[in-house]
Amino acid sequence: DTVILIEELHKHYHLGNQVVKALNGVSLTIKKGEYVAIMGPSGSGKSTLMNLIGALDTPSSGRYILNGNDVSHMSDDKLAEIRNREIGFVFQTFNLLQRYSALENVVLPLVYGGVPREERYRRGKEALVNVGLEDRMLHKPNELSGGQRQRVAVARALVNNPSLILADEPTGNLDTKTSIDIMRLFDQIHAAGNTIVLVTHEEDIAQYAERIVRLRDGRIESDVMNEARIQA
Ligand code: ADP
Ligand code: ADP
Repeated sequence: DTVILIEELHKHYHLGNQVVKALNGVSLTIKKGEYVAIMGPSGSGKSTLMNLIGALDTPSSGRYILNGNDVSHMSDDKLAEIRNREIGFVFQTFNLLQRYSALENVVLPLVYGGVPREERYRRGKEALVNVGLEDRMLHKPNELSGGQRQRVAVARALVNNPSLILADEPTGNLDTKTSIDIMRLFDQIHAAGNTIVLVTHEEDIAQYAERIVRLRDGRIESDVMNEARIQA
């Protein structure tokens, strides 16, 4: 029941003739059903780790096993397939297609996954009902509030029933009240048994997670259960 197994992950970038060591030996295990925040100051390696966990990039060295798949050295095509199957992404900027309705946006991962049309729409509607948007299914993103747009993105992340929900600063573009609504939604998703990794630099947001991993200078500085967890 291990979703993420990371061993001695290193990531180096080449900048001219300099080598930037963005991650310096990160090891991390996340089990099914966990809700983990990854925190750290600017430049600590959060985006780099998020890109590796999200199978958007591969490490310089070390091992990353995602739900039993070794994604450390995969080709870009194989990585794209793994991403679509295993990970539901939620971004700060929502990343919705403006020309499509909420429902059409939500079913897109199922189009890539080859799910038949009728089943796509059935599952898409179900996902939108689960995030409380049953009466906004045919609205386009520009007809929705920020919080509603992020709910659409969460429904899209869930529709494939992925092994991991990976959220990158999901409240970064939302006001405080709407942010709390979205964190409540993540609580609900977690309570339903989903595994969530939340990357954020906001202490208040990290407090919703049940475990907090802190990065500094490309290493894990601390990894603790969050005793003061906010339960929305
Ligand atoms: P964070 O998301 O916590 O701000 P990053 O993962 O973006 O941290 O960056 C970690 C380190 O790696 C920083 O020193 C940053 O400047 C460097 N870095 C990140 N991406 C690149 C890149 N594409 N090329 C060169 N250096 C990079
Ligand atoms: P391809 O380039 O092969 O079409 P994509 O890079 O579009 O593959 O991504 C495939 C999956 O990864 C999609 O489900 C998409 O939502 C997700 N994804 C992950 N990271 C990103 C990102 N930064 N931007 C857009 N989609 C992303």
